[in-house]
Amino acid sequence: MVTTTPERAEVPPPLAVPPHEVAPDLLMHRAFVNTYALRTPDGLLLVDPGLLRNARSVYEAVRAWSPAPLRTAVYTHGHVDHAFGLGAFLEAGERPAVVAQELCVQRFRRYRLTHGLNNHINRRQFGNPAITFPEEFIWPTLTFRESLVQQLGGEEVQYHAAKGETDDHCFVWIPERRYLFTGDLILWVAPNCGNPQKVQRYPAEWADALERMAALDADWLFPGHGYVVHGREAVRTVLTDTARYLRVIVEQVLTRLNAGDTPEAIFHAVEPDPVLATRPYLRARYDHPKFIVRNLLRLWGGWWDGNAANLLPATWEAQAREIAALAGGVESVVARGRRLLEAGDLALAAHLAEWATRAAPEAAEAQRFKRDVYARRLEATEALMAQGIFRAAMNDARAALGEAPQPPAGPATL
Ligand SMILES: [Zn+2]
Repeated sequence: MVTTTPERAEVPPPLAVPPHEVAPDLLMHRAFVNTYALRTPDGLLLVDPGLLRNARSVYEAVRAWSPAPLRTAVYTHGHVDHAFGLGAFLEAGERPAVVAQELCVQRFRRYRLTHGLNNHINRRQFGNPAITFPEEFIWPTLTFRESLVQQLGGEEVQYHAAKGETDDHCFVWIPERRYLFTGDLILWVAPNCGNPQKVQRYPAEWADALERMAALDADWLFPGHGYVVHGREAVRTVLTDTARYLRVIVEQVLTRLNAGDTPEAIFHAVEPDPVLATRPYLRARYDHPKFIVRNLLRLWGGWWDGNAANLLPATWEAQAREIAALAGGVESVVARGRRLLEAGDLALAAHLAEWATRAAPEAAEAQRFKRDVYARRLEATEALMAQGIFRAAMNDARAALGEAPQPPAGPATL
């Protein structure tokens, strides 16, 4: 799981690899998320304990590798795939300091408030109705605002706060070894900072953090997901390319906002850098660059989309019935939609599918059209965040037709 030539790495990275020593004194456990254990003169440092369901597997891998006591565990951020795998260590009687940026505590409180919502979001996002969002937390015991320096048996460990995928992010820097743990500030896909169903994310601050990390001149980069990167130039390239990818989008959005363009016009106009977008570590396999545009519009502006009719609108159903009546009936909407679908205009065809099924939800022909539109949209996008929503829409239509839902082909890889 190490690459020295990230620009030629295979995509996607292997889903799971057996736990192994990936760098001197460093164990890697990979199961969707990467968990690392570092051997220091004063016991172990665990970076991102991982998913609740893998807690046992992480514990057993670490204990098969080293008997040294667990001194510190750090959450690079409070997401479910990073901060919920510590339980087996605690059950075994270990009492590590649990380090996190201070906003991680607020995140866990919000997770309590919005537990039902997070179940819905994650089930839709991953196409898995069995997902249950965790309700129990292993709270940080040592938090910091800007940075924290720890000595583990004479080995200096630095924790630096950042914003990016979340507001509670941090990266870990071990200067003597030149080891950099980035959390999800590097995750081997286009930065996940546009997610359509989740809270605010921070593209410009994400780029700031990447540039700060690039200035460290690390020899090793240990990401939250995907390949470990080895070699000073390789590490710098991954960090600065990712920062540039974000800057290109941020600058376009800001320029257009300041010029008075509408959110709608900005959404359609802004594109990522076409060369950077093909890099193996920047492919839009998870989030989508257009969603980053939306997220920036939300960050800097209000929720109004620039269309005055949408300020205090009629219901979607009332609009759809009006459109269907103008078209001469739902059958005409479906017939026209089918022609658009055949011609490959999937975006426009999807609007017609929504109008048809909202005007006449009981019309099987309309539901079949909707099902077929979203099956095609699902197939046509590489971005998991878009796939999840398209799959849910397709399955809504299948349910209306009495058909079984269609699950994803395989597990998600990052
Ligand atoms: Zn993650």
